[in-house]
Amino acid sequence: MKNEFKVAIIGAGIVGSSIAYHLAKFGESDVVVFEKGYISSGSTGRCAGGIRQQWSSPNNVLLAMRSVKLFEKMSEETGVDIEYKQGGYLVLSYDENEAKQFEENVKMQRTLGLNVELLSPQQVKRRFEYVNVNGVLLATFCQTDGHANPHLANFAYARSARKLGVTILTHTAVLGIEVGTSWFILHTDRGKFKAKIVVNAAGDYSGQVAAMVGLNLPVESYRHQILVTEPVKNFVDPMLISFSGNFYVRQTKHGQFIMGQGDKDERAGLNYNVTFKFEKDLALKMCRLLPFMRKLRIVRHWSGHYNMSPDAQPILGESLQLTNFYYAVGFSGHGFMLAPAVGEALAEKILFGRTKHVDISSLNVDRFEKLTVKEMNVV
Ligand SMILES: Cc1cc2nc3c(=O)[nH]c(=O)nc-3n(C[C@H](O)[C@H](O)[C@H](O)COP(=O)(O)OP(=O)(O)OC[C@H]3O[C@@H](n4cnc5c(N)ncnc54)[C@H](O)[C@@H]3O)c2cc1C
Repeated sequence: MKNEFKVAIIGAGIVGSSIAYHLAKFGESDVVVFEKGYISSGSTGRCAGGIRQQWSSPNNVLLAMRSVKLFEKMSEETGVDIEYKQGGYLVLSYDENEAKQFEENVKMQRTLGLNVELLSPQQVKRRFEYVNVNGVLLATFCQTDGHANPHLANFAYARSARKLGVTILTHTAVLGIEVGTSWFILHTDRGKFKAKIVVNAAGDYSGQVAAMVGLNLPVESYRHQILVTEPVKNFVDPMLISFSGNFYVRQTKHGQFIMGQGDKDERAGLNYNVTFKFEKDLALKMCRLLPFMRKLRIVRHWSGHYNMSPDAQPILGESLQLTNFYYAVGFSGHGFMLAPAVGEALAEKILFGRTKHVDISSLNVDRFEKLTVKEMNVV
């Protein structure tokens, strides 16, 4: 087996697979991706698949807007139906301060070219009659937001990257990295590999991977639980989310409802257990919000993690201390939706030294030495 590559990517989640795909699309297929599990075994395969451009920080809006452009052609470009649906995202506010902030967010989002509406509770009820609007103060809605199937999207990028010549080694963990003068040597459980460039796309394990080369990344992983109901006829188009109400929910192509909420008492660390408390609290909340839910049974419940940076925005770009060592980490609850634009931007940065579509320079790791703007629109 070949054991020297120009680029080695650690992690075949949606982010690592998107970077690999875009490198190959731009002509560089001397790329190896190491994945310690199977493709989509990390947070990607555990996520809700929401794709939203309505953020409070301009960086996230711009990355998400570019991603939507790429999601729109992804099924055709890769030949895999990723179950992409632009049914919109309805963002509900139950808090006065948050509602005022929403008005500011919408102004900023419109300045960046996003078509977003502000809706009163009555307008929400008229348009989405199945939603209980009790307590809702204001909502925002963007029709071009939506959702896709995260497994299929992850496989779409990974398979297309392979077709273009990229090597993806699953069940192959990177155990250590030696830093040479012009090469990195990656020690894996399949032996040693040399690479000129290394990309850390290790999701929840990105802190451990950075530590392999002596770098300290300000990221921590937090468990998030999620559950799914039995399927019913498809009738809910938008994904619903609330930061003050602490929930998100959407209906999949096959009719199931997938939903989750955050837990402010969760401690940093990897924990794949699930709790009955989560199931009970979320089921009660959902039955109030969407009364038809009372008739549905829960069929599955699992957990994954948000890899969090201090400002809930991703850390992207090249390490300032270590040349040719790149990051695409710290995605909080939005790495699935940002992955197309991030993969494209990282590939452009690695191959051409600068990005063409979205400027990611302000998302480098050195930003934490200055004041940063925290992303507020997170569950
Ligand atoms: C419950 C839940 C709901 C979510 N909902 C959404 C949503 O609606 N929309 C959205 O955009 N995002 C959502 N997210 C966040 C999203 O899942 C992540 O941000 C995204 O999947 C990150 O992708 P990734 O490729 O960076 O990480 P991952 O998918 O975790 O991939 C990283 C890969 O690296 C591998 N790896 C790690 N260390 C090593 C090593 N040493 N050697 C080899 N391989 C290694 C892992 O096995 C893993 O497969 C949600 C997350 C959770 C948990």
